[in-house]
Amino acid sequence: MGDVGRAVGELNAYAEQLEDAVDLVHDMLAIEPELSGQEVLVKLRALADKRRREVDSVQADAVVRVDCANCKHPIWRLGDSRWEHVTGSVGCRAASFDRDGDWDDRFSKSLKATPPSSRS
Ligand SMILES: [Zn+2]
Repeated sequence: MGDVGRAVGELNAYAEQLEDAVDLVHDMLAIEPELSGQEVLVKLRALADKRRREVDSVQADAVVRVDCANCKHPIWRLGDSRWEHVTGSVGCRAASFDRDGDWDDRFSKSLKATPPSSRS
């Protein structure tokens, strides 16, 4: 179920990206109908690069990285989002599989990414 939900979420996000791209091209051509495909591409690339730099900048300011109190591997979170291991998994055991391709039985399934001296 979780995998299906995630796949639907990713497909939905992709569909929204495509819809946004269509809207952008539509708006560009509404303002400058004589634009060539190549010119539209250059404008889209410039917009994407600008947005990427903004995201990177905000993310660099908001990301906190520490070592997990449970498994001692690096964890991070963006702003007030939940803590997760840098592998992308919340659970310590799942993160061991991400890293090693095998489950580390020292970690129970209930252990989650936890910053030092915190109960969150
Ligand atoms: Zn951990």
